[in-house]
Amino acid sequence: MRLMAAAGQITERALAAARAAAVPGATTADLDAAAGAVIRAAGATPNFLGYHGFPATVCASVNEEVVHGIPGARVLVEGDVVSVDCGCIVEGWHSDSAISFIVGEPLTPRDVELIDAAERALWAGIARFATSTRIGEVSDAIFEVTEAAGFHPLDGYVGHGIGTAMHMAPEVPNYPVGTAGAKVAPGMCIAIEPMLVIGTSDSDVLDDGWTVVSADGSRSSHAEHSIARHEDGIWVLTAADGGAERLAPFGIEPVAP
Ligand code: MG
Ligand code: MG
Repeated sequence: MRLMAAAGQITERALAAARAAAVPGATTADLDAAAGAVIRAAGATPNFLGYHGFPATVCASVNEEVVHGIPGARVLVEGDVVSVDCGCIVEGWHSDSAISFIVGEPLTPRDVELIDAAERALWAGIARFATSTRIGEVSDAIFEVTEAAGFHPLDGYVGHGIGTAMHMAPEVPNYPVGTAGAKVAPGMCIAIEPMLVIGTSDSDVLDDGWTVVSADGSRSSHAEHSIARHEDGIWVLTAADGGAERLAPFGIEPVAP
C-alpha cells in the first residue's frame, strides 16, 4: 500500500496540473500534456495510455461527455464542465482518480451543484467504506447523496477494485443493484467513482469507441478516489492528506497504511 499511496500522490498532482491548464482557449490535449509531464517527471508510468488501446494519458470529458473522452483538439470555453480521469503505476501498483470542474465562470448554478453533488457522493461512499461490511453499503451511500441532490447515476458504469491492475474485482456500483455485494476486508483497495447526470441515466458511446455521452445531451460530473481499507481504518491513496479534511465531517480520521 505504500507504493499505491506513492502512485496516488503522483496522480493527484497530475490532476492538479491538468486542472491548472484548463483555461478558456486551451484544448483537452493541453490537459493531457500537463498531466503526462507530471507523471513522467515523477518516474511513474501512465496506466491509461495503451489500456485496451486508449491513446492518451488522461480521459478528458466535456459537458455531455461523461467519461472516457479522448483528449484532442476540442477547445475549452468559459463555463464548460470538464472531467479529467487519470492514473499511474509505481513499481507495478496502480492509482486511479478523477476530478470535475468548471472552466472559468459557471454558466448556471446547477452546474456547480452537479460537481458538488458528485464530490459529496464520493466522500459519502468513502466514509461508508470505513465501516461497511459489504460493498453494497458504499453503493447505498453514493446513491443517497445523488438522489437527494436531484441528479441521476449513469447507468451501467461502476467503480472497481484496484491494485496490481487498474480494474480488478469487486465492482463498486454507484446505486443499489439488489445484492449486498462483495465482503469488505482489511487489505481491500477500491476506486469509488460516482458519475452523475442531470437528465436521463442512459448513455451512448461515440464512434471513437471510447467517449461515453449522456443520451439526452445533458451535462455530467465524475469524481473518483482510490482508497485502502486496512486493519486500523482507511486511507485515501489519491489525496495528499489521506482524506483527512473531507472525512472530518463524518468523524473519520484516516490512518496511514
Ligand atoms: Mg478513473
Ligand atoms: Mg476508475
